[in-house]
Amino acid sequence: MKKYDPATAIQRLDASDSNRGVNPAISDSATFTFPEAHLMTETFHGETEDYYLYSRHWNPTNRALCAALAAMERTEAAWVTGSGLAAITCALMHEVEAGDRIVASMTTYGGTFAFMANYLKKFGVETVFVNMQDLDAVEQALATTKQVKVVYTETMNNPLLRIANIPQLSQMAHKAGAKLIVDNTFTPMIFSPCQLGADITVYSMTKYINGTNDCVAGAICGSKEYINSLADPSTGTCMLLGPVLDPLRSASILKNLHTLHIRMKKHGENAMYLAQRFKEVGFKYNYPGLPEHPDYALFSSMMNEGFGYGGMISIDMGTAEAANRIMEIMQEKGVGYLAVSLGYFKTLFSNSGKSTSSEVPDEVQKKMGMSEGLIRFSMGLDNDIESTFQLIKESVEESRR
Ligand SMILES: *Cc1c(COP(=O)(O)O)cnc(C)c1O
Repeated sequence: MKKYDPATAIQRLDASDSNRGVNPAISDSATFTFPEAHLMTETFHGETEDYYLYSRHWNPTNRALCAALAAMERTEAAWVTGSGLAAITCALMHEVEAGDRIVASMTTYGGTFAFMANYLKKFGVETVFVNMQDLDAVEQALATTKQVKVVYTETMNNPLLRIANIPQLSQMAHKAGAKLIVDNTFTPMIFSPCQLGADITVYSMTKYINGTNDCVAGAICGSKEYINSLADPSTGTCMLLGPVLDPLRSASILKNLHTLHIRMKKHGENAMYLAQRFKEVGFKYNYPGLPEHPDYALFSSMMNEGFGYGGMISIDMGTAEAANRIMEIMQEKGVGYLAVSLGYFKTLFSNSGKSTSSEVPDEVQKKMGMSEGLIRFSMGLDNDIESTFQLIKESVEESRR
């Protein structure tokens, strides 16, 4: 597989502004003037790039962030939204109409799952949920479902940290006449889904990309033609539903994006350290960076080298009660916060079954192989990870007393 260095691609961009400020100027305007009337018409039709119409359509600051995201994904273009779910729902809605079908992983983010399982039905779009790790089941679903327009998956799923085989899934989707949309929120830089065959990559930038937990934001990356169609004034889902990201926030996310590679390495290094220590002391852990994980080989074959195996790791404490006790003690000891979400500089932990996956019905959770005692960690940027490990171990011991 051809490898790519997304960090260097971003590093080489010149994003300085017309005053030679090293950060792009923040464009604090909703509307824009045109020196000549014909330029307004051309901009309306997406025929210019140096002129702007209205910030729900395009904005110079958003364009700077989008250029960096496109460089990261090695896609022609990108578009930024006010939340990850806005990116996901717009990308999905743009591809389907009444009567169409989606084949989706049954382990997607809870909000995405609920959108497909409940909300899209209002518009006559049904979703067939499959186990994306079972390629025969995907093939079967594609062979027996009519009018499939989208195959939807996450590169790394939550909370089991299973990896989707993007090259295979893209071949299968394309053979069936569908597009492959991939949510790469857990693994930016580590994987470049569009390089591996996906048509569209979506992100919740709320997580690793921004990394400071001070906002919600999302992104859609794909071909120029596709991104232009999303922003089309008469038919574009993004232009018409209006989920655009505020340019003030775009500017701050762009600055954080420039340290993403260093953060991904450190998150991954810390999670890897913990996995090894958990293994030594006999905790039931789950981490895709060790060969015991069922997708270790697949992960290794798809990854861009040098960014690690991700900052997510989980341990199984058997029961929800045990998990809850341990999480409360860990929070008291300063391991991190009992909170949903991920990709923060501090460690965050939660009991998946009762939080981030609670939209997923109990029987589906069971089918996925999710234990009710699972504690999911989003490892922080801890400088002394051995002391963090000791605090986690003490918390587990204390909870048993
Ligand atoms: C958080 C998350 C989302 C939703 O993103 P928001 O920014 O909260 O709207 C979607 N997918 C994944 C994998 C997530 O972790």
